[in-house]
Amino acid sequence: MESTPFDLRQTARPIGRLAPSPTGAQHVGNARTYLLAWWSIRSRGGRLILRIEDIDSPRVKTGAAQQAIDDLRWLGLDWDEGPDIGGPNASYVQTERVDLYRDALAQLQRDERVYPCTCTRSDIEAAASAPHVEHEGSLYPGTCAGRSVRDVNSICDQPFAWRFRSNDRDLDFADRVAGLQRANVRRDLGDFVIGKMDGLPAYQLAVVCDDHAMGVTEVLRGDDLLPSTFRQLELYAAFGWSPPTFAHVPLVIGPDGRRLAKRHGDTRLATLRQQGVTAEELVGLLAWSCGLRPTREPVGAKALIADFDLCRVPRQPFVFSVGQVNF
Ligand code: GLU
Ligand code: ZN
Repeated sequence: MESTPFDLRQTARPIGRLAPSPTGAQHVGNARTYLLAWWSIRSRGGRLILRIEDIDSPRVKTGAAQQAIDDLRWLGLDWDEGPDIGGPNASYVQTERVDLYRDALAQLQRDERVYPCTCTRSDIEAAASAPHVEHEGSLYPGTCAGRSVRDVNSICDQPFAWRFRSNDRDLDFADRVAGLQRANVRRDLGDFVIGKMDGLPAYQLAVVCDDHAMGVTEVLRGDDLLPSTFRQLELYAAFGWSPPTFAHVPLVIGPDGRRLAKRHGDTRLATLRQQGVTAEELVGLLAWSCGLRPTREPVGAKALIADFDLCRVPRQPFVFSVGQVNF
């Protein structure tokens, strides 16, 4: 598909996506991000795509894709294309789209934008000198960067991954929530894995191929993915595609200041639903947390479309404790 000129994409109806990973049940933190992504697009009369990001196979749980769909429907969200309703960009399940990713990887191989990396995680940790960003792992020191694609034939039976050869240059983008962002992928993040030895893609490659192929013009997601956006911008440039606009929203954290997780109690939507919490109660709380309503009064997701304004979303994470929804 041809990329659309930047200006035109900003004036046309925006296209957004909800992209759950079926690696576990969706919790309050995911719900807040999906609501924001949905309000942002629906308030401008745009289209939404639901895409199941199930390529990270060891962590994928059976039934979790359907569970994600049920959770999103319970919240009051809808979409114009998705695995349950079909659409012009089918399939909407990443494991059914691997040919697209394999072709993309082959293109990067032809262009020598990737090289086979045989380093193990502990090799990288031992070699990395720079301190690393939380959740980002150690910065890859470029150990295998001297290899070319055909060197894959001489690494014998060693396991390897395809690593993207990033550029040593500053990239910047204007995030709709987080503001101007700047980083140099080679220096700050290091070359990154985009494919496994069997040709299956890593998240970075799959998400760029899908957002481009599906014509997505706005990516709204949690700000834990801000560093990955620079990696993805490198990929957009390598393919010659125009990137979407990005909006990274603060995460939901527990009272201890850490990212919402099991240790904070059971905040899964399915559990809240079983406990009798209504979608309107949860949406009311989350809308209040987003600066969209003065109180936590229950409200349906649809009622907030008309007055939605992304500028009102606070720049700080939302501190959530389970007691807030045990009404
Ligand atoms: N599938 C990812 C997640 O559930 C989201 C990836 C993205 O929005 O780019 O965390
Ligand atoms: Zn390596």
